[in-house]
Amino acid sequence: MKRRRAFLLISVIIFAIGNLLIGQSTSGVHEEPFGSRDGRSITLYTLTNSHGVEIRAMNYGGIIVSIRVPDRKGQLADIVLGHEKLEGYIPNPPYLGAIVGRYANRIANGKFTLDGKTYTLPQNDGTNTLHGGLKGFDKVVWEGAPLKGKTGVAFSYLSKDGEEGFPGNLKVKVTYTLTDANELVIDYEATTDKATPINISQHSYFNLAGEGNGDILNHEIMINADRFTPVDKNLIPTGELRPVKGTPLDFTTSTRIGARIDDNYDQITLAHGYDHNFVINRKATDKGLVLAARVYEPTSGRTLEVSTDQPAVQFYTGNFLDGSITGKHGHVYKRRYGLCLETQHYPDSPNHPDFPTTILKPGETLKTKTVFKFSAK
Ligand code: BGC
Repeated sequence: MKRRRAFLLISVIIFAIGNLLIGQSTSGVHEEPFGSRDGRSITLYTLTNSHGVEIRAMNYGGIIVSIRVPDRKGQLADIVLGHEKLEGYIPNPPYLGAIVGRYANRIANGKFTLDGKTYTLPQNDGTNTLHGGLKGFDKVVWEGAPLKGKTGVAFSYLSKDGEEGFPGNLKVKVTYTLTDANELVIDYEATTDKATPINISQHSYFNLAGEGNGDILNHEIMINADRFTPVDKNLIPTGELRPVKGTPLDFTTSTRIGARIDDNYDQITLAHGYDHNFVINRKATDKGLVLAARVYEPTSGRTLEVSTDQPAVQFYTGNFLDGSITGKHGHVYKRRYGLCLETQHYPDSPNHPDFPTTILKPGETLKTKTVFKFSAK
């Protein structure tokens, strides 16, 4: 009898420990080695929610490697462009899936002046600095850590004073959280010990029909913006905030992306399609997140909604993808095979005192949030 009791007790303990372990492994975050870079090991984090939505991201460049979401029939597909292995991302000229910073988008002539001092940055896009310079946040190894009590991962990075020409030791943290409402929540946080410009964003290329499955011209998009920042021939804002009304950039009602993408309109010609910063509509009563854009893909029924507290969103239709990159499953990424919705400040803000400021000062904490919500109908 005693033996039986002891056996039962042991069984119960084993069962409890087993459950605890299973609980941990199904808590939503799985880690696996993904190679190494700069002498440091890279980890791939897989986030899974209760609906089987799965997001994989790694601590090299904070790159989102895949996002698998259901279509209207419940069929999962990977809806972001990328590579199967770390090596595929070295180099990564289109910034597939990466965190971009310290200053996402362009700074004219690789120069800005702050508190009377002129800073010179590497020019890696003609005469501009693009996405933080030669070795931006997309090309560095971050410190990765799974979140406790949530399905998510936090990536931290110290961008040292003078890195890529920027002032101040900047501590950055980017958190990806997958919710059971099929949302990818991205939280950005930063502090600095010297005033510095900062504009940080996520550079995933979406194709809601599935990565590699043709171009995105049949996707329909609504962008909640009455104005955009027109650019010059170097894709630098002229300073004007131009109404979208009457232009091919009017997406205030949902429109097929391909409908006007090659129109004879100066801004379309300059950018070879859409590559523009839209000023998100915000009422005085809108606090926090507002809907920036909604994208719908008719064959799969998938919808992506982007909400943010940032002032703008760069809508880029992959005009510079040219078929020279072979991504996942041997898919060749041709022109306009993916679209980016990069929530951010206006480009070249450090050289436009009338644009909302991007200067972070010591003692301040930058906190911003963007949510990508996936659904299908
Ligand atoms: C820019 C494009 C650029 C691309 C690089 C986008 O954020 O707006 O002009 O070519 O990044 O992949």
